[in-house]
Amino acid sequence: MRVAIGGIWHETNTFANTRTTFDDFRAYQFARGEWIIKRYRDVLNEIGGMYIGSRLNNFELEPTLFAGAVPSGIVTRETYERLADWLLDDLLKNDFDGVLLVLHGAMVAENAQDVEGDLLRRVRDVVGRKPIVATFDIHANLSAEMCEDADVLIGYNTYPHVDIYERGTQAAHIMGKILRGEIRRTVAFEQIPLLSVPQAQNTSQSPMREIMARRAEIENDARVISASVAVGYPYADVECAGMSVVVTTNDNSELAREYVRELREMIWARRDFFQVTNVPVDEAVQRALASDEEPVILVDVADNIGGGSPGDGTILLENLLAVEAQDTVVTIADAESVAQAIDAGIDRVVELRVGGKTDSMHGAPIQVRGRVRLISSGEYVHKGSYMTRTMMRMGRTVVLDCDGLDLVLMERKTMPFDAQQLRSLGIEPADKKIIVVKSAIAWQAAYGDIAREIIYVDTPGICTANLKTLPYKHVWRPIFPLDAL
Ligand SMILES: [Zn+2]
Repeated sequence: MRVAIGGIWHETNTFANTRTTFDDFRAYQFARGEWIIKRYRDVLNEIGGMYIGSRLNNFELEPTLFAGAVPSGIVTRETYERLADWLLDDLLKNDFDGVLLVLHGAMVAENAQDVEGDLLRRVRDVVGRKPIVATFDIHANLSAEMCEDADVLIGYNTYPHVDIYERGTQAAHIMGKILRGEIRRTVAFEQIPLLSVPQAQNTSQSPMREIMARRAEIENDARVISASVAVGYPYADVECAGMSVVVTTNDNSELAREYVRELREMIWARRDFFQVTNVPVDEAVQRALASDEEPVILVDVADNIGGGSPGDGTILLENLLAVEAQDTVVTIADAESVAQAIDAGIDRVVELRVGGKTDSMHGAPIQVRGRVRLISSGEYVHKGSYMTRTMMRMGRTVVLDCDGLDLVLMERKTMPFDAQQLRSLGIEPADKKIIVVKSAIAWQAAYGDIAREIIYVDTPGICTANLKTLPYKHVWRPIFPLDAL
């Protein structure tokens, strides 16, 4: 048996003022043909999991295209069409028995609000009745179209996402069962009129902890093939945005519907717990300075790189410089400042206008003065629990010593999901008093075990927790908390 493997992965923040292009995919995760296996076979992501699962289930993988970009703005029509064409061409060229797809579920292109629904329909048109099993991120905004055209959908069960590899393995096991004729899938799906913010979606904390515990019990029912809860992604202003539940059973529609209804009711009853209030910037900085515990993590919630923000927000940097915070580290994506610092050279003192250049929603550029302490190629490999063994490329990276504050300037915005990001630059996070993370929850995979105090800061930006301040136009209404329900 031979099974095609491929995917297109992007979380699209429709409030971002920049477009995501083909180069953004090339710069992050991109492989075609046999390079997919060579590059990801030993990585603990979906593909690494599908690879092991294929060996255990005795089918060969036929690699096609895998492309992923760092979460960012709407994907251009040209980029989506090019990626989809390549994937579909490869599917047409080869003869195989099924398709394993790695998807996100909250990708938006200029010509498709629900890219995964659109892509799955196109794949279905090409492969006919052959089975399609796809994985999705827990932040997916699932649609009925996705559920219709995939045979089985399997979502991550964790946030931070530390089970990606296991979901890949699970997808391959299910593909094996379908190919051996052991199961006949029946599926139920429901959207819930609820937008939840990332901070409230941590699966090791209430309310998600209880919801996912019940989900796991349901999936353990021998009649169930898979049960997934998608917390949704509120920064994609699309009709299908919001939480949802999908349960696939073995030839038992009624059971699938019952379980979906139960999970939907459980989530809906807890809707108030999916809203949060954060600490004002001034107060957060004062609390961090006064803390006896260290490191203190200042969470720059609204400039969440993993949520599609620019990663060049300056509000916390400005406030920390103003109070001369010591033993503090802040990262900012700013290619122009990196080039200027490198031109000046090691040990030189430079004055730079840093950050706030992508848009006006995350603070203005600010003037900083510091010594160029280190220049790096910006490459490091994840050693922690999230995306383990993935190579990250920040682009050229500079550490500027601003009188006790380490300002990390990188060419490309890079998600703070692994402590190697700082360690590769000679910065030991455990020795710092204050670490600013541009992330909502996933930073915990890097610093959760060393954090002594965590302060979620009410910074401005396109990943704000104050959803009512965002200019929604397309999301289905009524929906909580935009509307009273
Ligand atoms: Zn996610």
